[in-house]
Amino acid sequence: MKLAKPKCPECGEEARSTVEQLLGCADIEIDGDGDAIYTDTEVAWEHSESVRGPGGGIMLVCPEGHSWESEVKFTEEELSAAE
Ligand SMILES: [Zn+2]
Repeated sequence: MKLAKPKCPECGEEARSTVEQLLGCADIEIDGDGDAIYTDTEVAWEHSESVRGPGGGIMLVCPEGHSWESEVKFTEEELSAAE
């Protein structure tokens, strides 16, 4: 993919991550009193999806934790692999 704004507008560092929305299954254990506690979470990585900003671009994060939106272009190969 090609990012229109690969560098952080606040500190100038290159993006380290994209913000992703994930689906998961959080395991719980229920004790005799009916209280449930979380034990582990299984993430369904195949459902990972980049979070889109108000302008339709993907959200990026720099090593300092700043986030910003960037337009993104995917190659034909990346688009067909995602289908
Ligand atoms: Zn930054």
